[in-house]
Amino acid sequence: MIRTLLEADNSLRFLANNGCRGFACTKRSLEKLEKWGKGKENIIESLDSIQLDIGDCQRCKLARSRHRIVFGEGNHNAKLVFIGEGPGFEEDRQGQPFVGAAGQLLTRIIEAIKLSRHQVYICNIVKCRPPGNRNPEPDEIETCFPFLERQIAAIRPDFIVALGNFAAQTLLATQTPISKLRGHFHEYKGIKVIPTYHPAYLLRNPEKKRAVWEDMKMLMKEYRYEI
Ligand code: URA
Repeated sequence: MIRTLLEADNSLRFLANNGCRGFACTKRSLEKLEKWGKGKENIIESLDSIQLDIGDCQRCKLARSRHRIVFGEGNHNAKLVFIGEGPGFEEDRQGQPFVGAAGQLLTRIIEAIKLSRHQVYICNIVKCRPPGNRNPEPDEIETCFPFLERQIAAIRPDFIVALGNFAAQTLLATQTPISKLRGHFHEYKGIKVIPTYHPAYLLRNPEKKRAVWEDMKMLMKEYRYEI
């Protein structure tokens, strides 16, 4: 229910940002509204307009302690999107995703599959750092996840790599642990999802790097790219 209200709120803000100043309840207007979301009349919003909509977000309690909103970065037309959990200390300072120690490892993983950070898009389930790097709480995800859904809809990637339990479980709406989810393709709104271990987890458990490499090879085979 809350998510539906937030989605409605986001859609209305989007329309307002794009010049809509109200709805006339004429037959013609209602017919036009009826067509939205169906076929070619879909509104495709840009990442810039989503970021504008987020603004200096105060929608949840993470706003109180964050320094920078970490919206996401990379190729706006990326075929491949990486999704993490939420910004850490460095990301909160710099306003960019995955720029700390785990980020350096993620960069190496991306380069190992012969891509660069500029070719892919990198973002998180929540856009503000949870204090002390705790897990994001359900109300924070409820508030932030619709923006991620809009980012994914704007990019329209073919593949998503969900980094860690948190990203994979949120995106796939499941409680299954990452150890069981990884190794297989899943689906989110027609997009192939590859859950794999989070780079921060790999820093603590380097023996799991082999499993991540297997997941990346599986991904690249589908991506039609020979390694
Ligand atoms: N961990 C994440 O999940 N995301 C970041 O951006 C950095 C660390």
